[in-house]
Amino acid sequence: MSKTPHALVLNCGSSSLKFAIINGQSGESIFSGLAECLGERDARLKWLFNNEKTKQDLPEGASHQQAIDSLVALIHQFELTELITAVGHRVVHGGETFTQSSLIDNDVKAAISKVAKLAPLHNPANLVGIEAAQKSFADLPQVAVFDTAFHQSMPEHAYLYALPKSLYRDHGVRRYGFHGTSHSYVSGEAAKMLQKPLDQTNVITAHLGNGCSVAAIKAGKSVDTSMGLTPLAGVVMGTRSGDIDPGIIYYLTETLDYSTQQLDNLLNKESGLKGLSEISNDCRTLEEAMFDGNQAAKLALDIFCYKLAKQIAAYMVAVGRLDALVFTGGIGENSDYIREQVINQLGFLGLELDDAANVAARFGAAGSICRNDGIQALVIPTNEEFVIASDALRLAQLSEEK
Ligand code: AMP
Repeated sequence: MSKTPHALVLNCGSSSLKFAIINGQSGESIFSGLAECLGERDARLKWLFNNEKTKQDLPEGASHQQAIDSLVALIHQFELTELITAVGHRVVHGGETFTQSSLIDNDVKAAISKVAKLAPLHNPANLVGIEAAQKSFADLPQVAVFDTAFHQSMPEHAYLYALPKSLYRDHGVRRYGFHGTSHSYVSGEAAKMLQKPLDQTNVITAHLGNGCSVAAIKAGKSVDTSMGLTPLAGVVMGTRSGDIDPGIIYYLTETLDYSTQQLDNLLNKESGLKGLSEISNDCRTLEEAMFDGNQAAKLALDIFCYKLAKQIAAYMVAVGRLDALVFTGGIGENSDYIREQVINQLGFLGLELDDAANVAARFGAAGSICRNDGIQALVIPTNEEFVIASDALRLAQLSEEK
């Protein structure tokens, strides 16, 4: 096995832990998996190693620490211990404190904890993962990579809401944006594809997965993005509503007696493609239903595409001049249907779809999918784990050199 430094990448949710060991040069994942249902009866661990998928039950109610202990045992068993030189943690919210990835020390942990009021479901879980990994990999440098950091370059006019300013000053209520590692990665790859220096490249990136967000990136820096204080804002998603009239909240609470809990469930878990179609949150399932003649599935996808095209068009204001529109994420990389619908609505930008290239991209052929000169439409697979691994290894190396 190669001697190239590898990083262990951890993404800790409230009841799950995703992991991967990533080659810092090629980005290849040599061992990856997921511990799920942590804290519940059927806690389990699944992994992929040497092209073989394996599943193992964890003790009933297993904690994140127990999941990491089992992961450490597997890493020893597969003789991968020596390869790992850093641990990278995905941390959802870095607030205004973190504008880039950071080597984790007690101050960084305290700051992540302080920001937790903005992401009460995510940051505490991220911290649990950090604490557990610090116990199990005590000799390795640990690095936090924030979903929000890339968007910290947004100007005030993009990140402030038209609310009383004191809410921002006293409580940090503003747009932060998420999916930063993905938007940052694909914008860098787009500049390479276009053979332009990043600081002279303007792109609009559409990360379309279960969660969806669009970012306006000018001269390599994020200048606006569709998610807000939380990942609920912006375009239509799998189960999240995206932007709605805030007055709907009063109607739901005062006239229809919704509790905060019910509102949270409605807007985060029951809306989006799922709520509109009454079939599924899954884009592929909806496309199949639509091609079988289901009108509700078609309408849900129409709304998804219309709002997405509208958001992209709005970001022309943010970038001024555009080099490329980039599609990424499970839907962006795989759905030629969604890309076609969106690009057709953006014809006024001069975009003309290349049908053959668009269909070919479904089978992994990244690159341009339009036949016009000028503004390009690109499909670029994202690789958030590679960004986290690269940052972890870079900062680990820097700390060693000090
Ligand atoms: P992600 O969260 O990035 O894994 O993306 C998940 C989304 O990608 C789901 O809505 C999937 O249905 C969608 N997706 C994956 N493959 C395809 C495909 N071939 N066609 C349409 N949607 C797809």
